[in-house]
Amino acid sequence: MTDGRQEDLLAVARELIAEEALRYFTNRRDDLNLPAVPENHAARLAEAAYKVAELRPLGEIYNLVWRATRAAAEAAQKNPRTPRAHMATHAVNRVETDVQRATVDPGWELKPFTAITGQGPAAMTRALFYNVLDSDPIETSLPKLREALPEPVVAPRAADAAPAGEGDELAATVAWLNSRPEAWDPYLVAAGLSVLADVLTDPLNVEATITVRGLRKRYGAKEVFDDLDLDLGPGVTGLLGPNGAGKTTLMRCLATALNPDAGRIDILGNDPSSSAQRTELRKVIGYLPQNPGLYPHFTAASMVDYMAILKEITDRGARKKEVRRVLAEVDLADSAGTKVRRLSGGMRQRLGIAQALIGDPRFLIMDEPTVGLDPEQRMRFRTLTSQLGENRTVLLSTHQTEDIAALCDRVIVFSGGSVKFDGTPRELAVGAKGRVWSSDTRPTKAQIYWRTADGSYRVVGERPSDGSAVDPTVEDGYLQLLGTAARAGS
Ligand code: ADP
Repeated sequence: MTDGRQEDLLAVARELIAEEALRYFTNRRDDLNLPAVPENHAARLAEAAYKVAELRPLGEIYNLVWRATRAAAEAAQKNPRTPRAHMATHAVNRVETDVQRATVDPGWELKPFTAITGQGPAAMTRALFYNVLDSDPIETSLPKLREALPEPVVAPRAADAAPAGEGDELAATVAWLNSRPEAWDPYLVAAGLSVLADVLTDPLNVEATITVRGLRKRYGAKEVFDDLDLDLGPGVTGLLGPNGAGKTTLMRCLATALNPDAGRIDILGNDPSSSAQRTELRKVIGYLPQNPGLYPHFTAASMVDYMAILKEITDRGARKKEVRRVLAEVDLADSAGTKVRRLSGGMRQRLGIAQALIGDPRFLIMDEPTVGLDPEQRMRFRTLTSQLGENRTVLLSTHQTEDIAALCDRVIVFSGGSVKFDGTPRELAVGAKGRVWSSDTRPTKAQIYWRTADGSYRVVGERPSDGSAVDPTVEDGYLQLLGTAARAGS
């Protein structure tokens, strides 16, 4: 669990406890026939709930709410002529006073309520506490939870990052919640869980391993980028952008294959502008260039072996083993003895990937790795790359938005030498919500459209007169973001 992720989870936990307390307050108010809390006092009530949620477990907070509402009901009985609205305010005042005491006086013992008539923790709360935090929200206070959580680690866990099967799990959770009368609206819960899933997998929560500041690169008078800032952390980051955007140039700078004109790069604590550190870096960086200069007369194995020598794997036995390993990773074990010139385009591409994997690099840079791969090899590549991204930093460029959707934790849209978007693939797709249409007539005004397999037009932009809204994909999000610039140079 990462440090950031842990704090995010605790923040969500606190919010849920406070919301549970507020929900119980409302239930009690209804039961005791107290009036609604006036608008101007509702914020005070919420503030008190959030404050006490920081320190006390939900069972104790239930007790506190129970007392405050009972006191208000008793006061109402005793003074029947007092305006009814005052009764709710009375309850809020009492909650505030008791919360104050509960927070400054840890010795104040509130008997925890374990079972509440007509209310158990809501589905979202149960999902977080039982499934993620492995604790009981009724009994566990936030400080205790903080102590009990495992030590932070740098990389996100595989299970958290794996998108596969997420939909099934969500569907099963929703079905289960649906069968529980006390659960909230299952669709709200589903939406809540997906927010939670984003918190859990948010690659931006992970500490940066590569930082780029003020980077500039020009070819003659042609400026590719100027003053570029970027942070990369563990996980798979996809670089998406039109041809000529500068993706290759950036990747070459990061692979220490090209010197920038200005700016600073820090890779795993090393500065590639120092020649000594550059040499060290090359041992821990794997790079698949756009044209991985392969020698036609070398065999696949000797090609990779040669790269292993360049990476200073000097022990022969270890090198041989490593060559076998990386060839197997890309399904080329049977072609180890085949000359490069006899390999198909897709096989050469895989050989390029194999050489990038030598020495188990901590930072893997791949320029359009899926070009030329058949569907089966592409699936294989996705699996391999997701596994690598579990505890390494992987940066890849691609023109395939499906690759981005299927395997990247994070996507950076690069255009005109600057970052136009930086977030999760889902966030990129959601950016086109309400801007993607299916239409039967050929659009005239819309910026971008194309014909789909079923003969209808898919339109990104203004709604065509007969357009029906469709769910946006990563590609739609990308086209919506860049408009016609998405096609520049291609
Ligand atoms: P991308 O990978 O996004 O397609 P590149 O980094 O390859 O973009 O190219 C960025 C810009 O720099 C393009 O306009 C390209 O023509 C130019 N460029 C790239 N390499 C060179 C070079 N060696 N000499 C001159 N111009 C170059």
